[in-house]
Amino acid sequence: MATYRSHIARQIPELLALLVTVPLAAQSVFIITDAEGVAGICRQEQTEPTNAELQRLLTGEVNAAVRGFLQAGAKEIYVWDGHDGSRTLSASTIHPSAKLVMGSLEPRMLLERKFDAVAFVGQHARANRTPAVMAHSYSSLGIQRILMNGREVGEIETRAALAGWYNIPVIFLSGDQAAAEDLRAVVPNAEVVVVKEALSYYSCISLAAEAAQSLIEQGARRAWERRHEIRPYRVEGPVTFEVEYTTRNTLHPALPLRPGVERVDARTLRFRGKDFMEAWLLWRSGE
Ligand SMILES: [Zn+2]
Repeated sequence: MATYRSHIARQIPELLALLVTVPLAAQSVFIITDAEGVAGICRQEQTEPTNAELQRLLTGEVNAAVRGFLQAGAKEIYVWDGHDGSRTLSASTIHPSAKLVMGSLEPRMLLERKFDAVAFVGQHARANRTPAVMAHSYSSLGIQRILMNGREVGEIETRAALAGWYNIPVIFLSGDQAAAEDLRAVVPNAEVVVVKEALSYYSCISLAAEAAQSLIEQGARRAWERRHEIRPYRVEGPVTFEVEYTTRNTLHPALPLRPGVERVDARTLRFRGKDFMEAWLLWRSGE
């Protein structure tokens, strides 16, 4: 007993030193919202940001995710209204413990603030995935296809890579089954909640809002509890983005190109960087 007590006594200074030198984690999560992956959203006109049903359904899903993260111990929750001009969510209906991030973000998307985790709510799959509800990459009218190091990607993969640049894991996604598969392809053990099964671009089998929200709350809770098991998605080495625009965005023949940007054909630009961030900034700063 004496030995045990003296052993503990010897360790006390070390334990105290640990408490002083290890900063307490802020325990923050940054939620990126969208429209096309929300339960009950399956028609183009429903994605109009001021559509009352979209506002109600997305708010319900976001607040369910916030509840789940809070229950599991997250302390600071930021919700970025990421859909079409940031006009869908409202400070009057968002969960009172969350902060609402409004407006367009510069290419780093605030992730340089080093949140502890990133989550997607209402997310759709990348362009050209099928079956997938309203799958597109950033702009269904403007962009036909995006390649990152030769692989087709969309918002999920590129934003997961951006988060990974800052060593932040994407721990959670809710959306249709295609969006869930897109995230799992780059973050195999992320927590995903499938709120609808896509049958085609404009048809699906959706859960009721209440059922979807209940699953999202549970999923977000599990995601936060497991966040240390989920690795950031790191894209190492030189990175190339190839962005193929739609016919209505055919490039001007005399378009001046910045260093690192090449024209591939009438509708495609290539952006080369020595690493992910250089290529990302070259592309996204020019949009
Ligand atoms: Zn989107």
